[in-house]
Amino acid sequence: MEREVRVRFAPSPTGALHIGGVRTALYNYLFAKKHGGKMLLRIEDTDQTRFVPGAEDYILNALAWVGIKIDEGISEGGPFAPYRQSERKSMYMQYAQKLVADGNAYYAFDTPEELDRMREELKAAKVASPQYNSITRVRMKNSLTLPEDEVKKKLEAGEAYVIRLKVPRKDEIRLNDLVRGWVMWHSSTLDDKVLMKSDGMPTYHLANVVDDHLMNISHVIRGEEWLPSAPTHVLIYKYLGWEDTMPQFAHLPLLLKPDGNGKLSKRDADKHGFPIFPMEWQDPFTQEFAAGFKNEGYLPEALVNFLAFLGWNPGTQQEIFSMEQLVEAFTIERIGKSGTKFDINKAKWFNQQYLKEKTDDQLAEYLLADLAKNNINCSLEKAAAICGQLKERVIFPQDFWKDGKFFFVAPTVYDEAVVSSKWNAEVANIIGQFGSALQLAANDINADEVKSTLNVVLEKNDAKIGKIMQALRVCITGVGSGPDLMQLIALIGSHETAQRIAQAIAVLNNKVQA
Ligand code: GLU
Repeated sequence: MEREVRVRFAPSPTGALHIGGVRTALYNYLFAKKHGGKMLLRIEDTDQTRFVPGAEDYILNALAWVGIKIDEGISEGGPFAPYRQSERKSMYMQYAQKLVADGNAYYAFDTPEELDRMREELKAAKVASPQYNSITRVRMKNSLTLPEDEVKKKLEAGEAYVIRLKVPRKDEIRLNDLVRGWVMWHSSTLDDKVLMKSDGMPTYHLANVVDDHLMNISHVIRGEEWLPSAPTHVLIYKYLGWEDTMPQFAHLPLLLKPDGNGKLSKRDADKHGFPIFPMEWQDPFTQEFAAGFKNEGYLPEALVNFLAFLGWNPGTQQEIFSMEQLVEAFTIERIGKSGTKFDINKAKWFNQQYLKEKTDDQLAEYLLADLAKNNINCSLEKAAAICGQLKERVIFPQDFWKDGKFFFVAPTVYDEAVVSSKWNAEVANIIGQFGSALQLAANDINADEVKSTLNVVLEKNDAKIGKIMQALRVCITGVGSGPDLMQLIALIGSHETAQRIAQAIAVLNNKVQA
């Protein structure tokens, strides 16, 4: 019988969720939905020293914002509750003890000073990466080297200990990864990872494997940075006798810096001026704010579409995919092996495509919200018409106000380059006549009427429209390019336009004379 697909997203609440984490969650979600399976959210908080208040809520909110729905987890509950590892603390020791009893793990009593000394000695002996492993463990204080009764005494006396995995000296560990195919490690390159810490908490390695097993996880889809942990996990599955139901693994390609050189970090994102977190995050310790895709104006559906393509492709030319279409198209086979460059311009492109798809009335809501913040009244109808004029150019919702401010506010500065190349007495004269004509016209005017009013003036002066067009635009908006000028004037109204023209002529003629 085919195994039910059950995947999990298992973040540690150590800060804001990185955008790469959102991609991992997304791929898990797409895979689960595609196969009619379940998506779990498990919080891996066994490292109490790295716990950051607020991080867990942040993760939940970020997943909800991008539209990833969780079937079982800390908020939803489920048949394998609790889904927070700190609340499962009492479950793990029995598995560590079974490993010890079977000779696959051992107690280690080394103090931090003793461990430091071991590392120093190895360094002095030019060992490249000093490790507690099959070679060095014979010199340390553990249940492999100490007499049995002494171990017993120490345990009874409550002496601090950890439990370490006993990695065989010579073995080959293999894993058939769904993304990279067969991967092989020599056990001699692995260290004897701590499984239980002296505070009674399991480490990530033990808790992760035990929970994936107990929660009946069928596929582990996670970032490539976890690939080095995989052989340790494979050994634990084997030693606990769980090989038959071991999940299948898929390690996702790394997200690379924009230039493709190395792993993407927050520093790189800061340097290039783009966010690395889905939503804004305030560090609870330093109070520092970090930007998020949400507050920068990215739409969740655009971000999802962008992230889906960071490491996966549908094998066709189609680029725009709704969440439902992604679920339909997604396969692990089409995930690439090599790292993928983080191109923020592509994210912007997706955002633009999704914004353009919205109706003018929907877009007007963005503009109206910004207008309200600036105490400017505007009808929905007018706001929608303005958004209609701007929608081909904007990338973010806030651009309607930023790029369309001139619909509401007269310019105070005029583009120098246009003025110096296009402004002269004749141009000023024609534009002045047009202003006067507008002043006499009805305030409510449509684009065709604006055009014929302008044509009358041009004919009278025997001038072509090209002569004055850019200068006229600068008088009204301050800048040399923008949406259709006739529409723009109609939306601003003839009287306000006439006033702006008069004002501009006064300023610019003065300037030219000076
Ligand atoms: N707790 C790990 C993390 O923070 C989970 C890694 C895994 O998926 O196994 O990403």
